[in-house]
Amino acid sequence: MVYFYSIMKKDLLTILVCPICKGKLTLTIEKENEKEIVSGFLYCPKGDVRYPIVDTIPNLLPPEHHK
Ligand SMILES: [Zn+2]
Repeated sequence: MVYFYSIMKKDLLTILVCPICKGKLTLTIEKENEKEIVSGFLYCPKGDVRYPIVDTIPNLLPPEHHK
């Protein structure tokens, strides 16, 4: 079950889109445990913006300078 949960969690992150341009985000994992991604970032190629993942929580608040 833990394995499936892990897959689901990653799938959830990879289907997230940029809140501004609705573009697809690229997931980069910096640190993960057996359950989920602990830290990393989601990258928007269109806006050249990184949304950080801190303590397993993706921060999708739009940065000020997103184009
Ligand atoms: Zn964007």
